[in-house]
Amino acid sequence: MTGRLTVVGLGPGDRAYCSPEATAALARATDLVGYGPYLAMVDDVDPPPARHEFDNREEAQRARFALDLASEGRDVVVVSSGDPGVFAMATAVVEAVGTGDDRYRAVELQIVPGITAATAAAARAGAPLGHDFCVLSLSDVLKPWPVVEQRLSAAVAADFVVALYNPASRHRPWQFGRAVELVREHRKPGTPIVVARDVGRPGEHITVTTLDALDDVSVDMRTIVIVGSSTTRAFHDGNGRDWVYTPRTYG
Ligand code: SAH
Repeated sequence: MTGRLTVVGLGPGDRAYCSPEATAALARATDLVGYGPYLAMVDDVDPPPARHEFDNREEAQRARFALDLASEGRDVVVVSSGDPGVFAMATAVVEAVGTGDDRYRAVELQIVPGITAATAAAARAGAPLGHDFCVLSLSDVLKPWPVVEQRLSAAVAADFVVALYNPASRHRPWQFGRAVELVREHRKPGTPIVVARDVGRPGEHITVTTLDALDDVSVDMRTIVIVGSSTTRAFHDGNGRDWVYTPRTYG
């Protein structure tokens, strides 16, 4: 008997950001597959499904493991944070179905979208992504660094707002500084920047700053950075809160 595989986006953290469709998939699952911290986000599922915890780097292996379980007739949910199609597990699963064992093509496959870190962070700061924007991962673990540089330069030269995922980690200490240098070639020092850490999680911290002050801000794997375009603006409200927006009109 062939089972079902659902790749679910949990949103950035808070369960309020997890869709009813995702919640329903979790409730009917016989098995949950995912990276430990993401599985921990759903430790309250009742009745408790079997849990299969993986290291974050083993995406292809995790996808095949989940498809093998589904091929045996189980109702498997692979969990991702944010949206599963944005630098997350949906690609590995769809690729495994497209290129892997014939049995995988018989599995009933569904991808359930989630709120991605970029839009969750943008909402906290106002509307920085209100006009054309692009998302870019600064991680050179799976992608050569020259490709990162070329895409980032092209995006800022084309005046997109840019949301930077995976800005830095213990193993990638210098990449963010180099990315900031590239942005400075095309953007004014006063360009608004949103640095959002742990959005929708305990300890959430949002910083609105400017490109010239970015050297003083530390970033890590729990942080997303939104770089404004030439038209992005920032202001303080009467409560001392900073807001950022990118107008949809010109002149
Ligand atoms: N699929 C996820 C992204 C996975 S890549 C999504 O759609 O959101 C992991 C990167 O996403 C992190 O390094 C960070 O840059 C960003 N990220 C994910 N969740 C976040 C959160 N709650 N707060 C800030 N950044 C987050």
